[in-house]
Amino acid sequence: MPGLNLTRYSCDEGALMDFQNDDSLTRRMAMLKQRAQAMRDHDFYFYNQPVEELRGGARVLVNGRDMSMYASYSYLGLIGHPRINEAAKRAVDKFGTGTHGVRTLAGSLTLHRELEETIADFKHAEDAITYTSGYATNLTAISTLMGRGDYVLSDKLNHASIVDGCMMSGAEFRRFRHNDMDDLEKRLQQIPDGVTKMVVADSVFSMDGDIIDLPRMVALCRKYGAYLMMDEAHSVGVLGKTGRGIEEHFDMIGSIDIKMGTLSKTIPSVGGYIAGKKELIDYLRHGSRAYIFSAALPPAQAAAAMESFKVILDEPWRMEKLWKNTRQFIDGLKDMGFDTMLTETAIVPVLCGTDERAFALTQACQRQDVFVLPVVSPAVPEGSARLRATVTAAHETDEIQYAMDVIKKAGKEIGII
Ligand SMILES: *Cc1c(COP(=O)(O)O)cnc(C)c1O
Repeated sequence: MPGLNLTRYSCDEGALMDFQNDDSLTRRMAMLKQRAQAMRDHDFYFYNQPVEELRGGARVLVNGRDMSMYASYSYLGLIGHPRINEAAKRAVDKFGTGTHGVRTLAGSLTLHRELEETIADFKHAEDAITYTSGYATNLTAISTLMGRGDYVLSDKLNHASIVDGCMMSGAEFRRFRHNDMDDLEKRLQQIPDGVTKMVVADSVFSMDGDIIDLPRMVALCRKYGAYLMMDEAHSVGVLGKTGRGIEEHFDMIGSIDIKMGTLSKTIPSVGGYIAGKKELIDYLRHGSRAYIFSAALPPAQAAAAMESFKVILDEPWRMEKLWKNTRQFIDGLKDMGFDTMLTETAIVPVLCGTDERAFALTQACQRQDVFVLPVVSPAVPEGSARLRATVTAAHETDEIQYAMDVIKKAGKEIGII
């Protein structure tokens, strides 16, 4: 693609002409504008494409076209579930659409306590606390629990919200190599005796789909006296026989101190939670700033989340179907010659190489009504741009086969396989 350089981080002088100043922010804005324009010129601009309508199952209306959805984190296909929609509507009828302010004033509803009890029960924990987003949950929990003089050890591929929470905490922030327990042990040994330390990781990694080595991580945390925090954004409703997450997957219930999760992925609502021992949750309830200084979940979202945990337990076929679909998708793509990296879950990276190739593959798929999205630099290292395709329990076998055929044909044309 001559003339298209999507990965450079500078801009032409000409691009600055539309701006009044010439400072570093101006240059960064000009650079972004130029990069976005270059993508638009090639019909490669896939940022924030609005979904116009949910069409049941795994189909959505995008740009006026009926597409099958392979970019959803609604792993169990619960968005639009009649029971969950109904629970949200009932909550609106009873409580209206907002709260009276923050939880510590009059913003605590009976619904919030019920939701927190439901989560605690689902996660086999003593108690739970909720916040208005998963992002805010990581930020506030890590920065409340850890502080100056403490040490936080974080997997190199952890989610941005974990990284931001670690930085905000003021603790010593060390990264260990991705899912590398020898490296983690080395770094634990380097920490002076007698200081408070925490190890934090995604349970399933959001770009790569691989699963953390929980058994070794738990053993190391016990050996070196570190708290263990797990982000279960992609493992609730995905891992474990009944969808309870990473502890159930490894048959290690009760091994994680701080169990964090979101209500925006498998759970079709919004918000985040921490589950754990009663004293821990009490401490967060009295000390975390996103709880004290920010309003709680609106009633409809709290009720929807609560109903979702019940639906997961009532409809175990969804877990089975998710795993059947996951195996079909990963095995099928591998057989076609694609590199799906280390994934073991429904997040399936399809390695493309350059950003341009990932954009070209996305474009070809979307033109065939297969809705996938690319992940390019700087979100992933240059040269490992990919599709991040996801399957859910809402897909049917023949739909998945169609999507794989489209990806295969385009992958051949672009030269990826
Ligand atoms: C999505 C995600 C979050 C943030 O959750 P939101 O509810 O979207 O704010 C946190 N951690 C991980 C690993 C995620 O994938």
